Amino acid sequence: MSRRDQILAEMGLAPVWKLKGKKEEVFEREVLVKVKERQRPLSAWIELKQAVPACTACGLHKGRTQTVFGVGDEDADWLLVGEAPGAEEDRLGEPFVGQAGRLLDNMLAAIDLKRGANVYIANVLKCRPPGNRNPEPEEVAKCTPHLLRQIELIKPKLIVAMGRFAAQTLLNTGATIASLRGRLHSYAGVPLIVTYHPAYLLRNLPDKSKAWADLVFARKTMASL
Ligand code: URA
Repeated sequence: MSRRDQILAEMGLAPVWKLKGKKEEVFEREVLVKVKERQRPLSAWIELKQAVPACTACGLHKGRTQTVFGVGDEDADWLLVGEAPGAEEDRLGEPFVGQAGRLLDNMLAAIDLKRGANVYIANVLKCRPPGNRNPEPEEVAKCTPHLLRQIELIKPKLIVAMGRFAAQTLLNTGATIASLRGRLHSYAGVPLIVTYHPAYLLRNLPDKSKAWADLVFARKTMASL
């Protein structure tokens, strides 16, 4: 099989037509450009997935069991961003697997979404702060580039920032969740909606109805994109 036929077969474009001369060269060049475009995100993901576990940019690396990179569909339309791994996440290496995670899964189910299916879940911090304390500004500053790279690679249609740290980091603001909710924001041109963090909702049950309103708003927004 010629190289051209191999490339076309790999791309699922077989059976192939035989083109000749200059046209064939141009065609082959165009196909190669497409193949390279597809491979670029893959190698960028590999790079990022190596960089995060190797990161020692802040002191949190000293106490971690492992980094918690993020989980889900890397081509997802939905990106949900939380704060930082807790004890369970640090142990298992996956975001939102503890009590707050169970609530998040239920919230997703309520709008017909499921972890991993057109949804990606990540945190601002990839390492667990000791005793689940709040992230320090320096930790957020050092870790945010990893999240921003994830956003660049996923290219979500909509970001849902859950809680103060995700919202303030992505919107570069010190504003409260209460003042940011209920409006459409944007991070680097990607529509962004702010809602409460699931762990906050576990402690403040009456605000669950507000979070539900945020999710309905998010679902409507997605439908209009
Ligand atoms: N809280 C978060 O913000 N992220 C997790 O992964 C778990 C709890």
